[in-house]
Order: sequence, then C-alpha cells, then structure tokens
Amino acid sequence: KAKEFGGNAYAFFTQAMGLKYQSDLTLRNQLQVAIENRRLEVFYQPFVDLKSEQIIGVEALARWRDNEGNWVPPDVFIPLAEHTGQIMPLSALILEKAISEIAQYIAHPNFVLSINLSPKQLQSGHLINQVTELAQQYKIPFGKLQFELTETMIVDDAKSAFKQLAELRTLGCKIAIDDFGTGYSSLSYLNDLPADIIKIDRSFTRRVLTDSASHPVTEAVISMALGMNKSITVEGIERAEEAEYFAKRSCQAAQGFYYYRPMPLEQLIEVIEQETT
Ligand code: C2E
Ligand code: MG
Ligand code: MG
Ligand code: MG
Repeated sequence: KAKEFGGNAYAFFTQAMGLKYQSDLTLRNQLQVAIENRRLEVFYQPFVDLKSEQIIGVEALARWRDNEGNWVPPDVFIPLAEHTGQIMPLSALILEKAISEIAQYIAHPNFVLSINLSPKQLQSGHLINQVTELAQQYKIPFGKLQFELTETMIVDDAKSAFKQLAELRTLGCKIAIDDFGTGYSSLSYLNDLPADIIKIDRSFTRRVLTDSASHPVTEAVISMALGMNKSITVEGIERAEEAEYFAKRSCQAAQGFYYYRPMPLEQLIEVIEQETT
C-alpha cells in the first residue's frame, strides 16, 4: 500500500485527508436531502424502574440510512450535522417525529419521552417555542417531556444555557444530564446544575463487575447525585449483576441492552402492549 504513495508520508497524508473530505461532503449532501425529505427515523430505547423493571419512559435516538441503505451511526452524523449547521433542522425533525409518534402512549402513568439536545439548540432560543407548540398540538403535558444534555454543553455557554433550561423546567419539563462523569469539568458548577436527573455514563457501568478499583469513584458519583437531590438513571446496563450493584446503591432507573435495545416504533408498541396486558 505504501508504494502507491511512493513512500512519501506527506502524499499519503494529503490523499487520506482528501478522501475523508470527499466522503464527508457526500455524506453531508445526502444528509441534506434526507432531512428535506424527512427521511430520518427515530428509534426508541426504553428506560426502566430499577426495582420493578417496569418501563417508565423512552429515549428518542436519531437513525439514518445513507443512499446505499447502510445505517450511519449517530456518532458520525450528529457531529457532522453540528459542524455544518444541519443540526438545527435535524433536531427539529427528530423532535416533531418523536412527539407525534409517542403522543398516544405518553398517557400511560409515569411515561416520559426523553430527547437529546445539541448545544446549538440551547444557544438559539427557538427551543422553548418549538416545544410549546408541539406540546399543544399533540396535547402532551410538559411534565412528560425530558431533555438530555451533557455537562460540557452547560459549562461551555453557561448563561444562555441556564436561562433556557430554567424556562423548560418552569414549564414542567425534566432535564437530565447525559453521560454524567465524563465531562472532566470542575466540580464547583455542580451546585447550580439545572437538572432533575443524572444519567451515569456507561463507562462506569462497564467497569463495575470487572474492576473493583473503579468502585470508589462510581460510589462517589452516586452519592454526589443523591446528595444534590437528583434522581439517578444508570446507562449501559448489560447484565443482571450490574443492575443489582446500582439498585443496592439507591439508583432509581436504568437503561441498557440488558433490558431493551433501541427499537423502531412498531416494535416499541408491541413491547408496551405486552407490558400492559
Ligand atoms: P446517548 O444519548 O448517550 O445515547 C445512548 C447510546 O448508548 C445509544 O447509542 C444507545 O444505543 C447506546 N446504548 C444504550 N444502552 C447500551 C448498552 O447497554 N450497551 C451499549 N454498548 N450501548 C448502549 P446511539 O443511538 O448510537 O447514540 C449515540 C449518541 O448519539 C447518543 O448518545 C447521543 O449523544 C447522540 N444522539 C442520538 N440521537 C440524537 C438526537 O436526536 N439528537 C442529538 N443531539 N444527539 C443524538
Ligand atoms: Mg442520551
Ligand atoms: Mg447517554
Ligand atoms: Mg452517550
């Protein structure tokens, strides 16, 4: 392979960068058409009460197939859309699809729809209007809507973020801090965290059974969240023993492949109907 590039590291580098750029441009154009044609889909991953294992809500996760029909991971197209500005129309589309699709199931007691936010949405100021209009149109109480954001999103643009989050909470929406514990940010801001729920990141869950040296930090994170009066959702539960560990330590809710994987709406409907019969 190195011969193709004449053994020239520089030539190799530029060629590789060129390919990456080209493929990003192709992806970006395909994503543009997909957004315009409302071809993005929403998958739903339930989260459960840790004790009863009953579904207490679902997280909406964006899904997209490129022109060849291959799924593009959200970890690829979400950052791309954030970079190009396409994240605003993309987010609006996902928000509307999720709310309209879930509206009729949200009547179940204790059932919450959780939506991932991107930093741009917190900066723009449109979010409150979007949420208010959709909630009215689909007759959804604000208390049934939850928004997930990461620590860094709040810290990076504290003023505008705090204001919008406060408004959402005043309406009655829930705020969850996603991937908690991975932001490496100062602990001092935790006092003012405008949130109701802490989602403990999968990187903690993954180590619980295999690495007892990780327990002190995991337990500190839990007691910090409980001490701040936040409810805890544990991410990435893949085994019963992991669930047990967190249930013993007063965590309330859990999400992960052990319970449910993200699934299309039709499958979610079956799961919900099975659970209630
Ligand atoms: P996230 O919000 O932390 O979502 C959870 C991710 O962890 C999902 O990946 C889910 O499939 C995966 N997951 C859940 N349980 C398990 C488990 O037990 N084991 C393992 N290995 N993985 C698990 P997904 O769907 O690929 O999403 C990746 C990220 O993309 C999300 O992380 C979120 O940050 C972002 N994202 C997805 N949809 C949207 C969206 O509509 N808007 C925005 N702004 N971001 C989104
Ligand atoms: Mg999330
Ligand atoms: Mg998460
Ligand atoms: Mg994550």
